[in-house]
Amino acid sequence: MKVFTACLGSETNTFSPILCGRDAFEGNFYAAPGKHPDHPTLYSGPMMALRRRVRESNWEVVEGLSTFATTGGIVTRPVYEEYRDAILAQLTAALPVDFVALGLHGAMVADGYEDCEGDLLGRVRAIVGPKVRVGAELDLHCNLTQAMVDYADVLVPYKESPHIDVLERGEELIQILADAAIGKVKPVMSVFDCRMVTSSPTTREPMKSFVARMQALEGKDGVLSVSLVHCFALNDVPDMGYKVIVVTDDRKVAGDALAKCLGHEIYRMRREIGMTFLSVEEAIGRALVAPKGPVVLADGADNSGGGAASDSTWFIRALRARGIRDACVGPLWDPIAVRMCFAAGEGGSFDLRFGAKMNANSGEPIDARVKVTRLLPEAWQSFGDARDPMGDTAAIEVDGIAVVLNTLRTQAFGVDLFTNLGVDPTKRKIVVVKSHNHFFAAFSKIATEVHRTTAPGPLPLDYSKVPYKRLKRPIWPLDPDPLGLD
Ligand SMILES: [Zn+2]
Repeated sequence: MKVFTACLGSETNTFSPILCGRDAFEGNFYAAPGKHPDHPTLYSGPMMALRRRVRESNWEVVEGLSTFATTGGIVTRPVYEEYRDAILAQLTAALPVDFVALGLHGAMVADGYEDCEGDLLGRVRAIVGPKVRVGAELDLHCNLTQAMVDYADVLVPYKESPHIDVLERGEELIQILADAAIGKVKPVMSVFDCRMVTSSPTTREPMKSFVARMQALEGKDGVLSVSLVHCFALNDVPDMGYKVIVVTDDRKVAGDALAKCLGHEIYRMRREIGMTFLSVEEAIGRALVAPKGPVVLADGADNSGGGAASDSTWFIRALRARGIRDACVGPLWDPIAVRMCFAAGEGGSFDLRFGAKMNANSGEPIDARVKVTRLLPEAWQSFGDARDPMGDTAAIEVDGIAVVLNTLRTQAFGVDLFTNLGVDPTKRKIVVVKSHNHFFAAFSKIATEVHRTTAPGPLPLDYSKVPYKRLKRPIWPLDPDPLGLD
């Protein structure tokens, strides 16, 4: 079996002011063909599953380019075209192959390309022809288009949010493609458009049970894979929204019926599966009355994972105003402040202005006497089994509050974003994380309570108020009952 694989991705917040150019990719994750490290990354589920096959059997796998950017604004046109064309040239050089398996996001928009994944999959299909199987693992926050469905044989998004199942879904994709390549199965996709948008972590009910239900349907009655696309709500494209994908072994009619049945189920639960949010003051108030810490407060409106700068100061300001000393905050993106901390050195105390540089709703910068407690060049944090780079990083102490400043814009994934810098969040009463949802898998293990908040920020969490221009209507909650099932 000979296979080609590559990874290319970015989650595009079309409302973000932060353009996504070469630095956004190469500064975040970039591996030349064949140079992807041994540890898994967010888009390398298929590649890791293929490496396992190479170790255990006589498969030949050609690994192309792997690169992906932290969520930001529109990808610049020359950069998208260069990476896309590089992957296509690597595929062409690898021919003939039995199948192609890509690691993509599914909500990447570039200047001139509203559906990058549809564009890429279409060009892959044109190169390999109709008979070679083509598939991709997608982020659960993808915005599925008809082009993606038409050009691929199999699409497998993550089932979990936070995304703890990147490797399992990679295995699922490769198994289906491998079976299809030898004619054991004939995968056919059925898609149901739920006409709704919300944000629904799968760590809570009723979503947790829905994920279990999808998995229980797999492997019988010709059902190969079942998944729910949660969409990325700040990606203003016509096809944004929740969708069900059912992959069957050549049972299109049954697959369509199952997708519709599951889609109606989710639609009927749409008011229950979203999250509730506290204001900054409410969240700090709840933390203060908690008998025991750490209480984790998620600053989702400043989540770099959604395209925000991750530099707002609302929480730090509110904590200092109340004289709270027993807290830590991170990661706060401020490359200039980090340079100053490196100049001061570990143990150095100096007057620093930090935070709130990028956005009108990031608040005001903090001016304070700070102490540099730890410096870490090229720091990283854990995200499940993967490593997320944070760039050069400094821990500072300001009036008893520990703040982790970083140079590579990213969100809070792992508790080690603090512990690698000598800050023990389990010893703090309040832990503020710049993240909307992905912090949860790691931080819920140490937290006595977790609260999601709506500090001011560039990521509106009430989707009914987002000024969409391209989104296809009707869609809930902008429209009350698009499927007419109420
Ligand atoms: Zn995602």
